[in-house]
Amino acid sequence: MNDSLKEKIKSIVGKKNYFDSEEDKIVYSFDATPIFEQKPEAIVFPEDEEQISRIVKLANDEKFNIVPRGAGTGLSGGAVPVENSVLIVMTRWNKILEIDTKNLTATVQPGVVTGHLQSEVEKLNLFYPPDPGSMNVCTIGGNVANNAGGLRGLKYGVTKNYILGTEMILPNGDLLKTGGKNFKDVAGYNLKDFIVGSEGTLGIITKIILKLIPVPANSITMLAYFDKLPDSAKSVSEIIASNIVPSMMEFLDHTTLNCVEDYTKIGLPRNSEAVLLIEVDGRGSIVEEDAETIINILKRNNASFVKKASSADEANSLKTARRSAFSALARKKPTTILEDATVPRSELPVMIEKVTEAAKKYNLIFGDFGHAGDGNLHPTCLTDERDKAEIEKAHKAFDFIFNEAIKLGGTITGEHGTGLAKKQFLEKVAGIPGLNMMKQIKSVIDPNNIINPGKVFDMSPKCEVYY
Ligand SMILES: Cc1cc2nc3c(=O)[nH]c(=O)nc-3n(C[C@H](O)[C@H](O)[C@H](O)COP(=O)(O)OP(=O)(O)OC[C@H]3O[C@@H](n4cnc5c(N)ncnc54)[C@H](O)[C@@H]3O)c2cc1C
Repeated sequence: MNDSLKEKIKSIVGKKNYFDSEEDKIVYSFDATPIFEQKPEAIVFPEDEEQISRIVKLANDEKFNIVPRGAGTGLSGGAVPVENSVLIVMTRWNKILEIDTKNLTATVQPGVVTGHLQSEVEKLNLFYPPDPGSMNVCTIGGNVANNAGGLRGLKYGVTKNYILGTEMILPNGDLLKTGGKNFKDVAGYNLKDFIVGSEGTLGIITKIILKLIPVPANSITMLAYFDKLPDSAKSVSEIIASNIVPSMMEFLDHTTLNCVEDYTKIGLPRNSEAVLLIEVDGRGSIVEEDAETIINILKRNNASFVKKASSADEANSLKTARRSAFSALARKKPTTILEDATVPRSELPVMIEKVTEAAKKYNLIFGDFGHAGDGNLHPTCLTDERDKAEIEKAHKAFDFIFNEAIKLGGTITGEHGTGLAKKQFLEKVAGIPGLNMMKQIKSVIDPNNIINPGKVFDMSPKCEVYY
């Protein structure tokens, strides 16, 4: 990118919102996905929609690429810069514009941190359920772009279930408004849901209207220890089949629970092969009854110990420990490759075995944890990217895991998105007609392929994405 073009970009956003020093470029050359890394040409923090629109129009005229970015916690490489790219960082768009207690909606800018929104609405006895493990850092805009899930997905669903409306600057610079505060709206194609999960490839999201619900009145949090890993998986399947929908059902294997215990020191059972963290919530005595049914199922499936959290503080510390699983595993080795193969819930026991098989077959250290109630596992390889031979083996192990998940009727990603990390597998899941339809949509909306090119799938004009 030449200096005169950089000056044009700077004149749009202003000097104070434009960065292109080597240090700045290094800081923004990666997200939370290991291995993928490339420096952008510049980083900008636009102040309003008009500035974004003008940059996008300039990108079409001058043929440079744009990568939208929130907090950079993505785990599929979606916010990693591509060649000849300018990063549009949205973290300063961090205002909660309105909490509407009559319509139970919140209107927010995309840079609002998810956990901050949750605590603000909870002050009004309202609830925004999607709770990615990264919720104290990640942004709502990134959540919408990746259709993020979280620990409460089993009962409450994922980000898409809470999006009522969006505003987005399209690749031609126009402002697209979808949806609104209506709980029902079937006018024309469902463009709103089409934007959710588009991974920053269709435009830059600038406003979001979210659905809120009342805070559940009661909850009971339980922890179960297992000496045999398959017994924990069987418990999950049996709880699902018992017609109870816990608000949370999280699984940690032996390696993960030991890393979490090293990190949090909350007294997790180091000798157990697996633990399940389960929560039920709702109103009245039904919560207690559901908890009792679940405890019976856990005991029937050989749980060596089951306990109920005795206070809200204890329940929170258990959930915080679970949310720290990724960070706790990451302390073990320099490189942590975390994936999110997802299978129909009935296939969870088989999938857990397949992860163990992959670790043995390729002689790698794997931790395994995840949203067991959703069939969404996070097999995590603890490795070192400087050891090229081991990284090669890790790729083979993940190929094996993804292929096994697909054979079981599952998918390559339940919540982290396709991005860079999994685009080579997309055809296997979407099929050729599905993949072609996605590419056709992208080429109509973004004919010059300037918005986050090379993510999700490769398109013409081709763009090198990482080194
Ligand atoms: C410790 C840890 C735990 C995690 N736990 C979970 C979990 O439980 N569930 C889960 O789903 N994910 C989880 N993640 C992954 C990640 O936090 C989510 O994908 C999150 O939604 C990313 O938000 P972000 O603001 O960091 O977005 P970024 O990483 O900055 O961007 C993610 C994608 O969104 C696009 N994007 C960002 N903002 C915009 C915008 N305004 N307009 C258009 N596109 C945009 C980017 O181009 C990119 O493709 C975890 C990550 C970490 C590091």
